[in-house]
Amino acid sequence: MSSSQQLEQAHNVLSEVFGYTQFRPPQADVIKAVFAQDDVLVLMPTGGGKSLCFQVPALVLPGLSIVVSPLIALMQDQVAALQQSGVAAAYLNSSQSASESAQVMRQIHDQQLKLLYIAPERLLMEHTLDRLAQIDVSLIAIDEAHCVSQWGHDFRQDYLGLHVLKQAFPNVPRIALTATADSRTQAEIIKRLALDEPSYFISSFDRPNIRYSVQVKGDARAQLLNFLSGHRGQSGIIYCMSRKRVDAIATWLQGKGFKALPYHAGMDNRDRAANQTTFIHADDVIIVATVAFGMGIDKPDVRFVAHLDLPKSLEAYYQETGRAGRDGLPSEAWMIYGLQDVMRIVKMVQDSNAHADIKRIERAKINSLLGWCEATTCRRRALLLYFAEETVGGCGNCDICLRPPRTWDATQAAQKLLSTIYRTGQRFGSGQVIDVLRGKDTAKVRQFGHQKLSTYGIGEDMADAQWRSIMRQLLVQGYLTINESLYGAIQLEEKSRELLRGEIKLYLREDLFALGRKEKAPSKVPGSGAKVSQADEKLWTALKEERRKLALATSVPPYQIFHDATLMEMMEYRPKSAEELLQINGVGQHKLDLYGAAFLAVIEQF
Ligand code: ADP
Ligand code: ZN
Repeated sequence: MSSSQQLEQAHNVLSEVFGYTQFRPPQADVIKAVFAQDDVLVLMPTGGGKSLCFQVPALVLPGLSIVVSPLIALMQDQVAALQQSGVAAAYLNSSQSASESAQVMRQIHDQQLKLLYIAPERLLMEHTLDRLAQIDVSLIAIDEAHCVSQWGHDFRQDYLGLHVLKQAFPNVPRIALTATADSRTQAEIIKRLALDEPSYFISSFDRPNIRYSVQVKGDARAQLLNFLSGHRGQSGIIYCMSRKRVDAIATWLQGKGFKALPYHAGMDNRDRAANQTTFIHADDVIIVATVAFGMGIDKPDVRFVAHLDLPKSLEAYYQETGRAGRDGLPSEAWMIYGLQDVMRIVKMVQDSNAHADIKRIERAKINSLLGWCEATTCRRRALLLYFAEETVGGCGNCDICLRPPRTWDATQAAQKLLSTIYRTGQRFGSGQVIDVLRGKDTAKVRQFGHQKLSTYGIGEDMADAQWRSIMRQLLVQGYLTINESLYGAIQLEEKSRELLRGEIKLYLREDLFALGRKEKAPSKVPGSGAKVSQADEKLWTALKEERRKLALATSVPPYQIFHDATLMEMMEYRPKSAEELLQINGVGQHKLDLYGAAFLAVIEQF
């Protein structure tokens, strides 16, 4: 086949098998490089569409394509999804019985498969390699390629052995894919996998469908409820710091009528796995989890990721929120944080017995994260810049672009606060400092004679929450520091002198919460936030119900029947015939045969 014929075939596969009309950048170019027999390295964010980069060529090329994948759950999910689209795919991993894997080996031998997903340790076994050497292998894809990096969090010993594939299959192009961006990892991948002058494809790490917002923590539960009111009946993840908090929030949400389930490392293995399965198979369950949850979750219709506590770093935040909206539909990344979080996270670093250099790096990471929380310009832009990606202008889809925060001249207020810290001897935590500022008559105030200080009561005019807001921002901006060896006493930094002397002016963000103003609840249906008519809402519900029934009957997750995006298009265009239904994104021939009639019948009723 000539390369232009191959490309034409690739387009046919895209529309007939996967039901999509066009490739996303850079899929077409990646596929061209594969057809040219190049080794390829693909860097794309989660949800960018890495899978089609090897699945489409696999269906065009004559023989078998091998996909190395580190996670059993992911393999099973992808294979099931491919089978739903009528593709001859199978996997080999340790979850199978001997007879199941013997059957797959037979299918390989008989050249019945187009795609084989396989765990690295399994692939590297001698008898597997021998078997594969006897057949026609067209392509080797190495998914989650950053697992070869010994410096990363996801390091897999078995990935190191994959360099042998170069000798074992000298004429087979290899394509390595990852969502991890940093350049050291890229270099490591090329070296350790022995990629041969690979073609490089790096796409933007922006996730335009995710709306970022950060609120100052006040009444966390009330804020969460308010946020969730815009997401009733949707799938989402709520991250908390501790197991205890996970359990408490999950139970409390259940009491409020949400389908919420806990997930953390302290749970019984079986309960935990069951909760994960329920979450994946339903489209309206909220999982409340510690960071133990998420790796290998490929659920496309997660509509929100909420953080009730600060993540470890901006990298972690990007990864955790990246689990929202893989299907490209509008999704939200929402976080609340407050003074307590700042104290806790700083304390954690100071308390750790890591080497001083590591502590310094961690401290710098935290500062970037805190700075990002306090941002006064576009959050997306700042986030991408952190990953060395420059963009122009505001994104229009983050809290700051949508509701630019107001700033106010806080010079005088800050001076009051700094003086109070100074006059109380830099020995107290935030609570006592604020009590003195506000002129409270407490036992601790009297014990230390703080009612006699000149600053006692000079901050009466502002609420506690407002003082906490100022304190937090001064900490983040480096005017203040927390001394852990003095029980978390707040102390002045060199930088605060200029401020005390009145040499500079300080503008701080007005915290909506501190001023008692409420955030507006976000829009409801996973559309663009545009108004959805009642009729549409009814059809939407009916389509989802149909999908749920079919999913139950075939025991696959609903999203493997059709993605939300596909149902949304059905709602919008209301196809009346099989031909029209085939025009909808995500409807391929095989799925049309399986489910077309059922959905057409639903649409007809409206
Ligand atoms: P990744 O592996 O990069 O996280 P996936 O390969 O799982 O991403 O793709 C993410 C989502 O985008 C999937 O729902 C997939 O069906 C969809 N998708 C990928 N490519 C296209 C395309 N060309 N047109 C429409 N949807 C696509
Ligand atoms: Zn923005």
